[in-house]
Amino acid sequence: MRLVLLGAPGAGKGTQCKHIAAQYGLLHLSSGDILRKERAAGTKLGKKAQQFMDSGVLVPDEVILEMMAEAIKKAPAVGFILDGFPRTVNQAVHLDKLLAAGDRTLDAVLNLKIDDRIVAKRMTGRRSCPQCGAVYHIENLRPKVEGVCDNDGAALVQRPDDGPEVVANRLKTYHQQTEPLVDYYKNNGTFFDIDADGDPDRISSLIFEKLDALVNSPEANKDVKRKL
Ligand SMILES: [Zn+2]
Repeated sequence: MRLVLLGAPGAGKGTQCKHIAAQYGLLHLSSGDILRKERAAGTKLGKKAQQFMDSGVLVPDEVILEMMAEAIKKAPAVGFILDGFPRTVNQAVHLDKLLAAGDRTLDAVLNLKIDDRIVAKRMTGRRSCPQCGAVYHIENLRPKVEGVCDNDGAALVQRPDDGPEVVANRLKTYHQQTEPLVDYYKNNGTFFDIDADGDPDRISSLIFEKLDALVNSPEANKDVKRKL
């Protein structure tokens, strides 16, 4: 099964991808993780990406595309779930071409839908431990003592990424880039909107229902069935 998971920053993409990958035995391909690994390993692509990041500009489509194409080609036959990619319509068009070249298509695109105000609250409420990296939340995941890490007693901080202005900007960018992507996928194949406000396990069950129905439907791609 080949899947794409879309969703705003803070919508819970990482968690849901892990659940889906575990449930169906898929490879979880996170563009952020792959980028970090390439950089850490100092590969040609990693170095290229690093140059852009050092100068404070977004890593261009072509570098991301090359990196993801390599990862997708190496993916096992059982399939994969893409996380953080594609991010633009241009990337989606290239992904379709890449899959078509191997006589493949995407089986489904899942879109985690959630109100901006809710994700903003989720993200700006996060507090992190500068010593051990533990993450807390001022409402949902409080430390035993306010403002202090349970593990080592360090004072918790709000990472710059979780500040209100940065969060607002990330959401704005997401909507600008991704709303056209949602339209692209709605008109191209199997697309599911998933209500992503609530308990992560309940959201996973909603997703599993959709995917099970897809796999078991009489019209289901024989390819999908065989590989599951
Ligand atoms: Zn700590």
